Amino acid sequence: MATLREADRLCPNGQPLGAATRDQMVLRRAMAWELRSTFSWSASRRSILSLRAWREARISPRSVEEPVPAQEDRTPIATNTSQEDRSMPTDDLYPREKNLRNILQNDCVACSLHTARNRISWGYGPVPCKLMLVGEAPAKGDPLRLLWKGSNYTGIPFTNERSGVKLRELMCELGAELNRHAYVTNVVKCYPGYSVTKAGKRKLKALKRCHFDACWAHLSQELEMVQPELVVCVGGYPWNQLNRRIGRDAPKLSSIVMSPPAVVELAGRRFLLIGMFHPARWDSWVSVKTPGEQAYRKHLRETITAVL
Ligand code: SF4
Repeated sequence: MATLREADRLCPNGQPLGAATRDQMVLRRAMAWELRSTFSWSASRRSILSLRAWREARISPRSVEEPVPAQEDRTPIATNTSQEDRSMPTDDLYPREKNLRNILQNDCVACSLHTARNRISWGYGPVPCKLMLVGEAPAKGDPLRLLWKGSNYTGIPFTNERSGVKLRELMCELGAELNRHAYVTNVVKCYPGYSVTKAGKRKLKALKRCHFDACWAHLSQELEMVQPELVVCVGGYPWNQLNRRIGRDAPKLSSIVMSPPAVVELAGRRFLLIGMFHPARWDSWVSVKTPGEQAYRKHLRETITAVL
């Protein structure tokens, strides 16, 4: 039996105080590393979860050995759900978008990206539609967010806070609403996942030409269905890949953002093509590569409203 002096040194869970302090230090170190390495709100949230796990561990010491958030926090997909269910958003946070979601192939596994995704981010919007926005690929997203989970979790493009809010705000200012006047999609419909560098850091996998080629069947089908008059490439990757598919030796995106649209032919259709900076990199590029944000917004407004 522990003496009174020894009992004073015990945690409420009966473990020696020193052992509990070591656990606490390990978790605190992990939290500090995570915050230092990512500087993101989601990392902070995971750290808070780690702290909660430690607090619970003081009551139930075994739970501290449970792996606290896995590196890849994908929401597990229930194996007994139908393929259709797996492709549809499971929540009602985006009711209008859910009806406009253009599912082309359930559970596509045509390229290696299907292993990292949580949900396919199919295009959405009215069909047919004069204006079509084509982004890059879904970002990882954050399942703990209430609304802006990201397209890897919602299955709808541009639903993460960083670029989704900006793009919607931009479109409203240009006189268009994403799910009324514009069809929005990505050239690659699945989140690419992370690779680990030699230094042990996680890095978003770079999209390759083969990923675009594998997903081209979906995008060409969308071009046929949507019949756009103007296609806006949102970011450098869609701009480069679409021009490669057209067979055009196109200049860099940063050098044409103020240029008038080009008439191109692709997937049996003729339409106007322009490129714009990705909303996630908007602030760093617009001030450097355009005569000014106001002039750039005016140019986009005039180009887009001309077809609406
Ligand atoms: S990226 Fe496209 S082709 Fe590859 S698995 Fe996803 S939907 Fe299929």
